Amino acid sequence: MADPKTSFYRHIAQTSGEPMGLEIDRAEGCKIYTTDGKEFVDLISGIAVSSLGHRHPNVIKSIKEQLDHHLHVMVYGEFIQKPQSQFAQLLCDQLPESLDRVYFVNSGTEANEGALKLAKKSTGRSKFLAFKNSYHGDTHGSLSVTGRDVYRDPYLPLLPDVEFLDFNHVEQLYKIDTNVAAVIMEPIQGEGGIIPANPAWLKMVREICDEMGALLIFDEIQTGFYRTGDLFAFQHYDVVPDILCLAKAMGGGMPMGAFVSSSDRFEAFKHDPPLNHVTTFGGHPVSCAAAHANLQTLLSDDFSAKAKKIEEIAFEMLQGDGIEEVRGRGAMLGLQLRDAELTQKVVEYCFDRGIILGWTLHSNSLVRIAPPLIIEEQMLRDCFGVITEAIKEFV
Ligand code: PLP
Repeated sequence: MADPKTSFYRHIAQTSGEPMGLEIDRAEGCKIYTTDGKEFVDLISGIAVSSLGHRHPNVIKSIKEQLDHHLHVMVYGEFIQKPQSQFAQLLCDQLPESLDRVYFVNSGTEANEGALKLAKKSTGRSKFLAFKNSYHGDTHGSLSVTGRDVYRDPYLPLLPDVEFLDFNHVEQLYKIDTNVAAVIMEPIQGEGGIIPANPAWLKMVREICDEMGALLIFDEIQTGFYRTGDLFAFQHYDVVPDILCLAKAMGGGMPMGAFVSSSDRFEAFKHDPPLNHVTTFGGHPVSCAAAHANLQTLLSDDFSAKAKKIEEIAFEMLQGDGIEEVRGRGAMLGLQLRDAELTQKVVEYCFDRGIILGWTLHSNSLVRIAPPLIIEEQMLRDCFGVITEAIKEFV
């Protein structure tokens, strides 16, 4: 048997010059255990995925039950599969009436791809407005609306009719006009550095979209499923999107994504041509079974309070020299440090002491903090203690 580490570096396509390279044995709750006997607190939830921690028993039970029934049986939208139907029902029960149809996919970027196509098809328009510093995924459509040139430039040309506006700037909203198919945005920018939308500005975006017949797409791939203290961030803002994109924490650790909209809007996918948006594996029965158990569990306890408690402790403990700001809502937080060098040293110090932290994609002076929502208060306080100790050491 080949050594997994050797094969990883030899045969797994590398996307980072310096991968973290932990060799995983198992993961449970907030902890990840390596084959060389070390343990780590996962303070970023596998990047906003493991909101119930790793291997939540309800999720595992549901997966095992589904394994005894069936795996893949048919491409999307042909057969009635109980895990898909019951999860779609539970999800739509939590949403406003205008979000009553779900299209399941396998990932976040696919959810955004689908949303862009649905917006084009249902409005008959092709222009998109997106925001600087946004991140929507790495396939061509999603990359086309991702607002960071350094990631876009090597892949030009991308979708032609995309314009980027400054996030939270009122003056540029006149660009939402009758040529625009949709405005796509994260209500709280994640990879851009944990930047919440201004509530009044977001309401204005909604109003202008309505006036101009442009759709509003919320990418809640990172903010969804109580990460920010509400089941979805749009509920906190009281602004309902026309299309809601979900993934990450949705599957309880299984690959899962969705774009959700109205029955009327989804009519556009039925004809001209028929089957104009299909997927082989989207809504995989095992992923849907996991997602159903995940959502049921999230709804069975006060996860809103748990996320808000994480926020409260972060704002209380993460203070002092070197810390410029703590930003975000609930358990989607960013610790803005003085500079990139300090940030790197802090992240490495914590890693050496068994805490997994990270940067965000577009900001190297921000420490991402996104613990599982189930984290015990003492464990969280201990981790924040190590972070503040690290900052004091290097500041
Ligand atoms: N949209 C947002 C806001 C994200 O944070 C991410 C991933 O980090 C994506 C889209 C892409 O999701 P995926 O990696 O599942 O394709």
